[in-house]
Amino acid sequence: MSVLNKKSVEDMEVSGKRVLVRCDFNVKIDGGVITSDKRIVASLPTVQYLINKGAKVILFSHLGRPKDGFDPEFTMAPVAARLSELLGKEVLMAKDVVGESARSLAASLKDGDVLLLENVRFEKGETKNDPELSKKFASLAELYVNDAFGSAHRAHSSTTGVADYLPSAAGYLIKKEIEFMGGALENPKRPLIAILGGAKVSDKIGVIENLIDKCDTLIIGGGMAYTFFAAKGYGWGNSLCETDRIEDAKAMMEKAQAMGVKFLIPVDTKLGKEYAPDTETKIVDADSIPDGWMGLDIGPKTQELFKDAVKGAGTIIWNGPMGVSEWDNFAAGTIAVATAVAESGAVSIVGGGDSAAAIKKLGFEKKMSHISTGGGASLEFLEGKELPGIAAINDK
Ligand code: AMP
Repeated sequence: MSVLNKKSVEDMEVSGKRVLVRCDFNVKIDGGVITSDKRIVASLPTVQYLINKGAKVILFSHLGRPKDGFDPEFTMAPVAARLSELLGKEVLMAKDVVGESARSLAASLKDGDVLLLENVRFEKGETKNDPELSKKFASLAELYVNDAFGSAHRAHSSTTGVADYLPSAAGYLIKKEIEFMGGALENPKRPLIAILGGAKVSDKIGVIENLIDKCDTLIIGGGMAYTFFAAKGYGWGNSLCETDRIEDAKAMMEKAQAMGVKFLIPVDTKLGKEYAPDTETKIVDADSIPDGWMGLDIGPKTQELFKDAVKGAGTIIWNGPMGVSEWDNFAAGTIAVATAVAESGAVSIVGGGDSAAAIKKLGFEKKMSHISTGGGASLEFLEGKELPGIAAINDK
């Protein structure tokens, strides 16, 4: 079943209805102060749409990992306060999740009012996807909207179970994730080029396996490239190499060749003597890494190779840095790829914290078609797995 066929909030009659919206308000809070309100800001299109339509809006989310029931360290109260500032209207705050306070406040809402429930993880049943809790959530409202993409890979009561008891739809954040990532996987504008980087092959193996059948070109950079060097019979010095994955790497390159998929790995690499930001560096060809050195970025010939490969792309999926991009000495490869993707004119979909950070640093955010908001969820999506939080949403 195609994810492109899921109902969105715009497909529901929401006016005058109680709408329960699962948001991702999992923000970092330090001493009661929210250190980044990015996720709260990201929820605004869906919340504001529902307010404008005269729905009675009931928001709920998890925040951190509280262990055992109510814990003031993990209260949603600071989120309610910030959301209220952003919306320029009162946000009611329940004292509990599905208890007396939540029920009476939900029942008293007028059209356009907004209520935030307490942290769903104060309820033990949440992470167990307990049907009793799901029913209690459902009893607060008439409709359910899921807008928490970052939690969509978890089958919890608030992300999945509740949809068994209410008509459901995707909010704008999930809608956009589905449109771009689902579109790229199911019906991409070709050629489709995937650029994968980051530390480990083992983290991305599922993604490579899923994309190899779909891509025209697959590009590998970052720490995971050195396992492919080993598969080619090159030395890797002290670079990251997962020796138990060398056979997998070989198999993937052979599969790509058999299928006529272009599979590019670095042809040169920038080495460091130590794993440190200001270590001694040198650039060598991929088959010439000397003992005692480690590959920490792609080299300049590889930058050109990857830039050329990206030219003329219809769709680009990029996940993971080309090197240790946190350190200026080893950021050039990631910057080159970010620039090439930004200038490609392709539908560009970026996932992973480090790639997104590079794009932000360069001011390229507006040049990307879509920057995915979910780390684990976006990787599972690219692996072709069914995300329970999306599967639970009704089809159109
Ligand atoms: P991931 O979370 O898998 O996307 O990996 C991101 C991490 O990979 C970043 O912290 C980078 O520093 C690290 N990384 C990228 N390239 C290398 C490399 N060549 N050697 C060691 N670490 C790397």
